[in-house]
Amino acid sequence: MSIISKIFGDANERYLKKLEPIIRKINSFEPKIEKLSDAQLKEKTEEFRQKLRRGESLDDLLPEAFALVREAAKRTLGQRHFDVQLIGGIVLHQGKIAEMKTGEGKTLAATLPLYLNALEEKGVHLVTVNDYLAKRDTVWMGQIYDLLGLTVGCITHEAAYLYDPGYTPEISNSQFLISKQIPNSKSKIPNGERDKERDLVGGFKVVESYLRPVSRKEAYLADITYGTNNEFGFDYLRDNMIYSLDQMVQRPASPTGGPASPTGGGFNYAIIDEIDSILIDEARTPLIISAPDTESSIWYKDFAKIIPMLNPDTDYEVDEKTRTVTLTERGIERVEKILGMDNIYQEKGIKYLHHLEQALRAQTLFVKDRDYVVKNGQVIIIDEFTGRLMPGRRWSGGLHQAIEAKEGVEIRQESRTLASITFQNYFRIYRKLAGMTGTAATSAEEFDKVYNLDVVIVPTNKPLIRKSLPDRIYKTEQGKFKALIKEIKSRHQRGQPILVGTRSVEKNEYLAKLLEKEGIPCQILNAKHHEREGEIIAQAGRLGAVTVATNMAGRGVDIILGGNPPDAEEQKKVKELGGLHVIGTERHEARRIDDQLRGRAGRQGDPGSSQFFISLEDGLMRIFGGDRIKSLMETLRIPEDQPIETKMISRVIESAQSKVEGMNFDLRKHILEYDDVMNKHREAFYRKRREILERAQQDSLKDYILEIIQKQGFSEKDYRKKEKEIGSENMRQIEKFLCLRILDSFWVEHLENMESLRDSVRLRAYGQKDPLVEYKSEGHKMFRRLLQGIEAVIANSILRAELKPQSSKLPQQLIQQKKHKKIGRNDPCPCGSNKKYKKCCWPAYG
Ligand code: ADP
Ligand code: MG
Repeated sequence: MSIISKIFGDANERYLKKLEPIIRKINSFEPKIEKLSDAQLKEKTEEFRQKLRRGESLDDLLPEAFALVREAAKRTLGQRHFDVQLIGGIVLHQGKIAEMKTGEGKTLAATLPLYLNALEEKGVHLVTVNDYLAKRDTVWMGQIYDLLGLTVGCITHEAAYLYDPGYTPEISNSQFLISKQIPNSKSKIPNGERDKERDLVGGFKVVESYLRPVSRKEAYLADITYGTNNEFGFDYLRDNMIYSLDQMVQRPASPTGGPASPTGGGFNYAIIDEIDSILIDEARTPLIISAPDTESSIWYKDFAKIIPMLNPDTDYEVDEKTRTVTLTERGIERVEKILGMDNIYQEKGIKYLHHLEQALRAQTLFVKDRDYVVKNGQVIIIDEFTGRLMPGRRWSGGLHQAIEAKEGVEIRQESRTLASITFQNYFRIYRKLAGMTGTAATSAEEFDKVYNLDVVIVPTNKPLIRKSLPDRIYKTEQGKFKALIKEIKSRHQRGQPILVGTRSVEKNEYLAKLLEKEGIPCQILNAKHHEREGEIIAQAGRLGAVTVATNMAGRGVDIILGGNPPDAEEQKKVKELGGLHVIGTERHEARRIDDQLRGRAGRQGDPGSSQFFISLEDGLMRIFGGDRIKSLMETLRIPEDQPIETKMISRVIESAQSKVEGMNFDLRKHILEYDDVMNKHREAFYRKRREILERAQQDSLKDYILEIIQKQGFSEKDYRKKEKEIGSENMRQIEKFLCLRILDSFWVEHLENMESLRDSVRLRAYGQKDPLVEYKSEGHKMFRRLLQGIEAVIANSILRAELKPQSSKLPQQLIQQKKHKKIGRNDPCPCGSNKKYKKCCWPAYG
C-alpha cells in the first residue's frame, strides 16, 4: 500500500468511526417507529417540517428521519436499509461522494438524504445518466416518498412526470407478462398486480403506469425530482433564454416566486448517481444549444452588392486598431434607401445589422493573401502570428461567410451556439452537491482538487469474496481472441454465467460473431437501447448466460445470480459454479473503468470472479507501451495463443494507464480553467437578463432604459417624445422585447468571440505568454465591451422604434401569436403590411 493510500485509508477509518453513534441512534428509533400506522408515518413529515421552522437543523432531525425512511422502505419495498446504506446516506447528506460498490443498493441509500433534505421545501434533485434510469428510480423509490407524503417528479428528454399511484392510464396486458412468468412471487404486499410487478422487477423495468405526464415546471415543483444530467442542464440553459418569467421551468428561489439565482434557489441539493461518469467521463463535452444559421447565408450575397455602393468617407467609420467598422447614421439611411426600407432596425432587426457590419468588415479590413487565401473554392485563414495557413478553421460571428460572399465562393452554412455550459459548472451552481459510485477512490484527487468533494469509501454490507484473477497477456490480438473463445466455451459448458466487457461497439460485434461461429448463444449489448438492455442485463446471472456488453451497456442495473427475480434452485447452482465470471477483453485508459467492469461480479457477498485478457497489439499498449514492449514482441518466440507470464508487462500496463489518466486529468482541468472564465461572464449575463425580465414584470424596466439612454448622451425628453408617439403600453412591450433580443444576439456573438479568442491565445503561447492569463484579460475586456455595446444598441433602437401605421399594438400581437402558433414563412406578415412574412418582419420575430 502506498503512503498516500495509507493516509487516505486511515482518514476514512476515522471518519467512519465518527458515524457509529449516529447509526446507533438511528437504530434506536426503530422499535418506536415500527409501531406507527401509515397515517402516523405521514404525520411525521409535517412534524419535521415544523421543527425545521422552529429552528432545528437537518442534522438534528437526521436520526429519526432516516429511521422513518427505513420503515417506509420496509413497508413498501420490503427492503430494510442496511447499516452501511445508512452510512452512505449520511455521507451523501454531508455533501461528499460515497463510494459504494455495485449492487450495494445506492438507489435505496439515496432515499435517506433525499427525504431529509426535501423537508426544507426547496427541492432536491437526483441526477442519473439516462432517461431510463431516471424513470426506473422514480417508480421504484417513489412508493417510499409517497407513503411519507412527499411528491416525486421525473424529468426526461421526452417528457416530465409525477409519481402517482392513483393514475390509471390504459394498461395493456403486455405490461404484466413478466410477472406472469414468475412462479410463486414472494411479494407480501397485497395491493394489486401492478404493485407486485413493480416490487419484483422494479430494479430493471419501468412500470410506466405510475408516471403521470405533467409539465416540466410541475415536475420541478415536486419535493424530490429525478432526472438526467443532460436535461437538468438543458433546462437551466433554456430557462435563461425565455421571454417571460412564467416560462421558467426550474424552481424559483423563494416559495413566493422570485427567480432562481445562479447561487442557490432551486439549486439546493443534488445527488449525482455514477458521479464519475458525469463529472469525469462526460466532462469534456459541454452542453450546447445551437440552431442552424439559415438566413445569414442568404443575406451575405445581398450585402456584397450593397457595400460597394457606400461612401467610405461618410457612411462608415473604420477603426483599424480594434478592427471594427461601424455604420454612421448617414450610412444606415443610405442602406435603408438602397433596400427601400423606412427603418432597418424595425424591419430587419439587430441581427441583420450585425451581419451587415460583418460584411463591411470583410470588405474593408480583411485583405486577400494577407489575412486569408482563396484555395479550391475555400477561404483559408492565415494565422496572424505565425503566417501559417489554417485550413478547416473558420472565423466566427458570420465573418467567414461574409468573406466567402465577398470572394464569390460557396457560402457554407454554420450552426450558431445559442447557449452552452459544462457539466462541471452546471453542478457547481448547487448549494450542496453529493455523489455516489462504485468507483471513486482512484479519482479521489481529481474530485478533491477540481470539485472540492471528499470521497468516503463505505464498507460493503457483506465481505467481498470476488476473485480477481491475474491478467492473461498475449502477443497478438488474434491469439488473444482465440484464447478468449476457448475460455468462454469451457466455462459456458459448465453452465457458469459469463459477462464479457468490450471497449468498443466494433469489438463487441466482432466477438459476438466469433461466439456465434462456435455455436455459443449470447446476448449483445452496446448501450443503444437503455430500457431493453436493462431487462437483458438483469438476467445475465442466469445459468449458462453469456452476455457481451460495452462499458456503458446496461449500467445501473444489478446482476442477481439465478436471474432477476431469482429462482432459488438456479441461484444455488450458479453459486456452486463460482457465480458470475467477468471477462475484460482489453484494458481501458482509466483503471476506474476496468474496476467498474470487475465490480459487476461478486455483489452483496456473492461468489464471483474476473479476469482481463490483453494483447500487446491493444490500443493502450501500442500507443503507451513504449519501446520496451516493441522489442519484447520481436524477441518473444512464444506461440501467439500462449499467455505470456512476465511481471514486466503488468507494470508497463499500470504505468501506461496512470500516464493516460494523468494526461486526461490535465486536459479536463484545462477545459475547466477556460470555462471558468466563461462562467463568470455567463453568471453576470444571466443575472442581467433575469433582472430585465423581473423589471418587466414589475413594471420598472423603464427606469433602467432611462438610465442607459442618458448614459448614451440622449435626454429624458427624447424618451418622453418617443413614448408619447408610440403610446406607453406599446412602449413597455417594445422595451422588453428589444432588450431581450439585443441581449441575446450580443451574447451569441460573445460566445463565438470567446471561442476564437481561445484559439488565438493558444497560438500566442509561442510568444512565452501564459495563454490562460491572456484569455482572462482579453476576455474581460471583451465582456466589458459587450455590456457597453448592449447599452448603446438598446438606447439607439428604442429611440428609433416605430409602429407600422396599420397596427397600433404591433409587438403585443406578435408575441401572442408566437405563443400559440409558429408563423409560416409564406404566411401574411402579422404586422399587417400585406407582405409575406419572410419578406417582412422575419426573422425578427420568428
Ligand atoms: P447499486 O446502484 O449500488 O449498484 P442498486 O441500487 O441497483 O445497486 O441495488 C442493487 C440491488 O440490491 C437491487 O436489486 C436492490 O433491490 C437490492 N437492495 C438494495 N438495498 C437492499 C436492502 N436493504 N435489502 C434488500 N435488497 C436491497
Ligand atoms: Mg446504481
